Amino acid sequence: ALSRASEALQRLVRDIPDFPEPGVVFKDITPLLADPDGFAAVVEGLAQAGRDADGAVVVDKVVGMEARGFILAAPVALALGVGFVPVRKAGKLPHDTHQATYDLEYGSAVIELHRDSLQAGERVLLLDDVLATGGTARAAADLVGRCGAVPVGLAVLIELGFLPGRATVGDLPVSALLTV
Ligand code: AMP
Repeated sequence: ALSRASEALQRLVRDIPDFPEPGVVFKDITPLLADPDGFAAVVEGLAQAGRDADGAVVVDKVVGMEARGFILAAPVALALGVGFVPVRKAGKLPHDTHQATYDLEYGSAVIELHRDSLQAGERVLLLDDVLATGGTARAAADLVGRCGAVPVGLAVLIELGFLPGRATVGDLPVSALLTV
């Protein structure tokens, strides 16, 4: 299943040089999402991060990061039979939130999580499309912890191995379907 996922990623994710700014090679997953077999393969590959070696589901919630993380986390949550919870950019969630601020190359970003979206002790799988510097994932894991829940893993389609994402997220285990 994992080789089917990595094959799909290599075939269906395209590199867009200098987007959204010079020097960045953007990983465009839209061709992958438009391919039902490829999409299914990566959803199943990501869902493995929420199961143990015997196939038992070991997480209580899947948290997806706006915006492409939503597209992946929702079907992964359904595949695991657990709930989906969104982490959003500031100002989008309507109820009481926890907020985390993290540094970007230029400036900073603020993300939010509904305070009542996770119960104390719940085990959470974090989901996103690309792990780059790890700043987003680290801030999302921090928000999960502030609900009293436990981030138990981060699953991504693609890890940019030339950036320090894994080091940034520290103890949080990372499952990447493809490392470039
Ligand atoms: P970071 O916080 O640096 O790990 O960046 C992760 C977030 O930015 C993810 O939500 C990605 O969707 C997005 N991102 C960062 N770098 C790229 C890239 N080269 N291609 C596509 N998305 C990216």
